[in-house]
Amino acid sequence: MQPVKFEKRLFGTNGVRGIVGKDLTPELVGAIGEAFGTMRKGCIAVGRDTRTSGETLTKAMKSGLLATGCDVIDCGILPTPALQYIVKDRFEGGAMITASHNPPEYNGVKIIEPDGTEMGDEETLKLEQLIFNRSFSAKTWESVGNEVNAPHFIRKYIKSIVNHFPPNIGSGFTVVIDPGSGPACITTPQILTELGCRVFTINGIMDGTFPGRLPEPSSEGLKGLADLVVSTGSAFGVAHDGDADRAVFIDENGQFIEENQEFALVAKHICHQKKGTVVTPVSTSHLVEMAVKNEGCSITYTPVGSIYVARTMRSLIEDGKEVVFGGEGNGGLIFPDHQFCRDGGMTAATMVFILAANRKPLSTLVNELPVRFLIKDKISTPHGIKLLENLEMAYSKEKIDRTDGLKIFRDTSWALVRASGTEPMIRILIDAEDQKSGEIFYKELMTHISEIA
Ligand code: MG
Repeated sequence: MQPVKFEKRLFGTNGVRGIVGKDLTPELVGAIGEAFGTMRKGCIAVGRDTRTSGETLTKAMKSGLLATGCDVIDCGILPTPALQYIVKDRFEGGAMITASHNPPEYNGVKIIEPDGTEMGDEETLKLEQLIFNRSFSAKTWESVGNEVNAPHFIRKYIKSIVNHFPPNIGSGFTVVIDPGSGPACITTPQILTELGCRVFTINGIMDGTFPGRLPEPSSEGLKGLADLVVSTGSAFGVAHDGDADRAVFIDENGQFIEENQEFALVAKHICHQKKGTVVTPVSTSHLVEMAVKNEGCSITYTPVGSIYVARTMRSLIEDGKEVVFGGEGNGGLIFPDHQFCRDGGMTAATMVFILAANRKPLSTLVNELPVRFLIKDKISTPHGIKLLENLEMAYSKEKIDRTDGLKIFRDTSWALVRASGTEPMIRILIDAEDQKSGEIFYKELMTHISEIA
């Protein structure tokens, strides 16, 4: 039932990422394409975000796929969830050239399965094996693939979101959208306009140099958005990461909404309408569990990573369970009625619907949520795994959970310690009822860690 997390050599939690021309070359992307084309038959949809290296790497991906006999549909620049929707609708797989929230010098690859989800660990390990062994089934002249351009498919994604809501639900709302010069420039403003909103944009022209802000939608980078929300009297501001699978919000007063609060607000709204379970990683604040249980719904925890959330949602539904919602505490939310992947455009549209249904300002809705206190920290150490084992022994008499890393429960608080899969460090997260109990727990945990390390 619970998905098991495998350590991969090339792929991380969300695909391959690297610095272009250094770790991530056309040769590597071409090899990923050849491996994927060796594993899959049929027609593969390819897309990219706005990065300057997108064109060369997309061509490498397409070359690998065509050489191994797949046909290619080039969807051009579009958000990752748009490509996922298009694949689910009609193709045998997808390949997205994106580095999501990473800085401009990065790029990467996300591989998409026919159901629109990102490739799971077991298939990814097979893909990696083919790449490392270079065992590709190259085709001869009569059976190489063909390519077709299909930039118009993006319209199907926009329509699928707009049709999800009552007509003109956004009428009377002014909103500001910050797509961060990424592919949501051509989706989210269109979606919210078609829902009836009056739309302003900032960083609304696609540009892979990201002149306005970095692709990570951090509160520091969204000052321009916050100012525009206030000066235009908007109901909210929404910003996306570099491939628009995540959305974060600014309230009508220009305040950044912490992503766990965003998750809890949307979960509360959905759970008020439908009963079932909400799926999320063990790193999500207890705030979400509280909001979900207050509405008579349950919560299911997974390892950290949206792919584990999406796959758990699917397998629960296959087992006949009612799954109403899922996501992560980073603005990556999954709406199972729409598709099984994080979707920033759908999240923005849902926020319009929530405001229309509640007729209260966004800041009021956030203030109605329970309050939690979070501490986030990280420590550099090459011995993360060993440290976790020792820490588990130190806390063996307490209630612990090993779904991902080590989660230690105490009264109304918990602590999560995880070793990074890609860097020599451990991440620490404390989620407490108030500042005082959070700080006491943090101090005690750090004392244990410094004794062990
Ligand atoms: Mg992303």
